[in-house]
Formats: sequence, structure tokens, C-alpha cells
Amino acid sequence: MLKAKLALRKQGQESSVVEIAPGKTIGSDAIAIITGPCSVESYSQMETVAKFFKDTAVLGIRGGAYKPRTCPYDFQGMESEGLHILKTIGTEYSFPIVSEVLSPNHIDSMKDYVDVFQVGSRNMHNFDLLKCLGKTKKPILLKRGLSATIEEFVYAAEYILSEGNPNVILCERGIRSFDSFTRNILDLGAVVSLKQITHLPVMVDPSHAAGKRELILGLSKAAIAAGADGLLVECHPDPEKSVTDARQALSLQSMKDLVSGIEPVAKAVGRKI
Ligand code: PEP
Ligand code: MN
Repeated sequence: MLKAKLALRKQGQESSVVEIAPGKTIGSDAIAIITGPCSVESYSQMETVAKFFKDTAVLGIRGGAYKPRTCPYDFQGMESEGLHILKTIGTEYSFPIVSEVLSPNHIDSMKDYVDVFQVGSRNMHNFDLLKCLGKTKKPILLKRGLSATIEEFVYAAEYILSEGNPNVILCERGIRSFDSFTRNILDLGAVVSLKQITHLPVMVDPSHAAGKRELILGLSKAAIAAGADGLLVECHPDPEKSVTDARQALSLQSMKDLVSGIEPVAKAVGRKI
């Protein structure tokens, strides 16, 4: 029996809705769609993305300024310059910004530049980071660890909640398994389970689960059918040239097609886009 007092759904408890910007919510009837490149690469890249999705169903823009790379010699992100770019395009195009925080030391310097702190898969077990984020009031998009059990994922959320921050959004992004045909295995059983046992919004990141752009629309439809409250999807103005995660990056047009492609599924499960 899980001892997560705050994350678990009490009998009859409504699902929580997290407001990421005035009037912009995750967990309500409308499916929340957040998209953007894996990494912030330039102002013009981010502006192209924001301009393209202005006045569409896209709720927010993502982009990594600090990148958790497997190899220390690979691109580590534009860091503070990337944060400035995110802030500028977020303000100019009225999009809430989601970006990954890697360290407790970055929270202060990032908090005025982003609307949602993303905790990446590699940091789901970083309890010090989770506790520090729990002391803020910012929405936290908490990704499931690479090999984390559902219990460990719920306890990671509890670390944030128990420090006083109620604004936690869970994100299933695929887990490691034996089959490398897809980058990870999208665990839709976890989506259904988390919706049942917790009251928190649950998003799905099909990009890091699939690792291949041609699988993303199908997984997105499946995620919405399984009850996900939103999608976090990587796209790029020139996908093949993406500095990170190029193989899974959708073109901007494919991303727009994804939004219309999931609409019938959303309707079928009583949600809107
Ligand atoms: C990302 O969102 O670009 C990312 C690094 O994700 P994850 O932590 O799920 O690997
Ligand atoms: Mn990525």
C-alpha cells in the first residue's frame, strides 16, 4: 500500500487541474498540447516554432536550455542564453514556457524565465531537486524515471507535494526494456493506473518513448484514448538538423497534423482539443 498521502486520489476526489499560466490549464476537459524542439538552438528557431503555433490548439512551448546528455562532450544546451530566448518568445507570442531544470542551483536563475519546470527522466530520483522544487509554487512537469516503477514515480511526486507545491503534472515518457526497436516502451498501463490511483494530471511524451517520428501520431492517439490529459511532443523547423533527438523530431506541419489527428480520439473519450 502506497504511503503517498497527497498524490493518491481519495475516495470521490476530483482530478486536479494545474494552471500553468492565467487561463491555461492541464487536467481540464481540453487536451493540453505542449510542443517545441528538444533543445533551444537559436532565437530564429524558437520564433519560427512560436509563430507557427500561434492561434492553434497548442497550449505551451517547450525547449531545453540545459540538456542532460549521456555523453559529457555532446551539446549541453544554450544555458542562460537559451532561457532569454525562451522568455522573449513566450512573452511575444503569449505561450507558457516549459523547460528542464537540472539542478537545485538553477531554480532561482530559471524561475523568472520559465512557466513550468520540467524534471527530466534522469532526475526523477534526485530528491534534493524535488524537495527544492516543492518549495516553489511553479508547476512541475515530472517525467517518469528511465526505469522507475509506478510506485517510485508516485513517491517522486509526493516529494514535491509534501514540501507544499500542489502543482505537479506527471509525464509518462517510456521506460527501458529489452527491445531497442523503439527507443523506450510507452507504458500506457501506467497512464491508466496513474489516472486511477492519483488525482494528478497525467501527460504523455510519445517522442522520447518512440524515438522515431513515424510512430508519434499513433502513440499520441493511444495515449489520449488511455485517458492522458495532454501530450508533450518534440518538433523542429528542420527536423533532420535538430541538434538533439533529430530522429524523433516532427516537422511543424506534422505536428499540426497530429493535433487534428488526435481530435476524433479526444472526442470519443469526451475530451476537447
Ligand atoms: C527532453 O524532454 O528533451 C528530455 C531529455 O526528456 P527525458 O528526460 O524524458 O529523456
Ligand atoms: Mn529530447
